[in-house]
Amino acid sequence: MGNTSKPGSVVAREIDHDPFEVDGEQYLVQELLWNGIDGRSYDLVRRRDGQILTEDESFDGYPTDAQIALVLEKHGVDVELETCKFCRKEILLATARRHDNGWVGNACCWDDRLHMTA
Ligand SMILES: [Zn+2]
Repeated sequence: MGNTSKPGSVVAREIDHDPFEVDGEQYLVQELLWNGIDGRSYDLVRRRDGQILTEDESFDGYPTDAQIALVLEKHGVDVELETCKFCRKEILLATARRHDNGWVGNACCWDDRLHMTA
């Protein structure tokens, strides 16, 4: 005992995921682990000034490219989207990988095996 913090009220750990660049600005997804609960939250952070763009509502899971695009657009960022050739999801052009004549989502479908054949 001795810990009076309410479960879920204190950040136990922060994990910064790989940054990516959209329209000349770097962003990253920050994963937060909370004290006493299993749930995690994910925020979109602008690297330049540490501004959290998802302050009103964090994501419960790692956001998809389409979710990231929505948040960025709300903040006035011009986001270019493409369609993943494998899963047909909307993907950020900024992080998409060129593969043959199409694009592959970095988060959804890209893995290093594709890199060998690209
Ligand atoms: Zn995909």
